[in-house]
Amino acid sequence: MRRLTLGGDSLADLASESFDDHLKLLLPAAGHGELVLPPPGPDGRPDFAAAGLPPPVARDYTPRRVDHAARTLEIDFHLHGEGPAARWAASARVGDIVHVAGPRGSMVVPADLEWQWLIGDEAALPAIARRLEELSKDVDVTVVIETATLDEALPPLDLAGARRLLRVARPATGDAMALAAPLVDAVRALPTPRGRGHAFAATESRTVRAVREVLTGHHGLAKGQVRAAAYWQRGAAAHHENLD
Ligand SMILES: Cc1cc2nc3c(=O)[nH]c(=O)nc-3n(C[C@H](O)[C@H](O)[C@H](O)COP(=O)(O)OP(=O)(O)OC[C@H]3O[C@@H](n4cnc5c(N)ncnc54)[C@H](O)[C@@H]3O)c2cc1C
Repeated sequence: MRRLTLGGDSLADLASESFDDHLKLLLPAAGHGELVLPPPGPDGRPDFAAAGLPPPVARDYTPRRVDHAARTLEIDFHLHGEGPAARWAASARVGDIVHVAGPRGSMVVPADLEWQWLIGDEAALPAIARRLEELSKDVDVTVVIETATLDEALPPLDLAGARRLLRVARPATGDAMALAAPLVDAVRALPTPRGRGHAFAATESRTVRAVREVLTGHHGLAKGQVRAAAYWQRGAAAHHENLD
């Protein structure tokens, strides 16, 4: 994980209402040097086609923390290996220029809850950490984190109050079901909660589908109590899908 702090005047009014908002990180198309934004088109967005330029590479990231007064934005990057965004984050230096777009409108999950489950992998850690900071300490929170190994250090999570942190390791090889099994089993083994609550799950596409099935099937959570999203997909670039 590498935290980068971006600065820029337009951050003064960047609005991010929900912990699972996302920004588009815009990087130059392959083979192009620095990204230069062309003039806006009729929809107000930079019009790459009209300027005869290839569209930029766009990847989704969580606005981990925004400081409007300081005009800074923190983003936590999981350095997963190959991919333009992970490569950029791994090699970024002070003074480098990057563009971000968004977030679009937020779907705010109510905070007036008795319990909250936060389930995900490295890519979801920024959203999970942000939710933990934003929730009242009275909410009974359970966090289930999947990482490549259990030795991996997690960024500091604010786990004050009656909170549980469970960790599972992702198998190195196997088919989609085998790869999902540790996280799915851990979620299935949780005691089914009662009362007003919400479950957030974000990880690899096939894994999150299996987790969602356990949340709604095994635990019987209602559709409105679950927010599940594919934050990436094995073998695919720039995959994002909301399952609800
Ligand atoms: C709403 C939302 C919020 C997100 N927030 C964050 C965040 O705050 N921090 C963060 O690090 N990520 C976050 N992600 C995930 C991030 O957008 C993806 O990991 C993205 O694919 C990375 O782009 P890339 O250019 O590095 O790799 P890509 O070009 O998209 O993919 C290249 C290869 O890498 C694999 N790959 C992609 N992501 C991962 C991964 N996480 N682990 C292992 N293999 C991977 C792909 O399967 C593909 O084979 C978020 C995703 C969504 C949808």
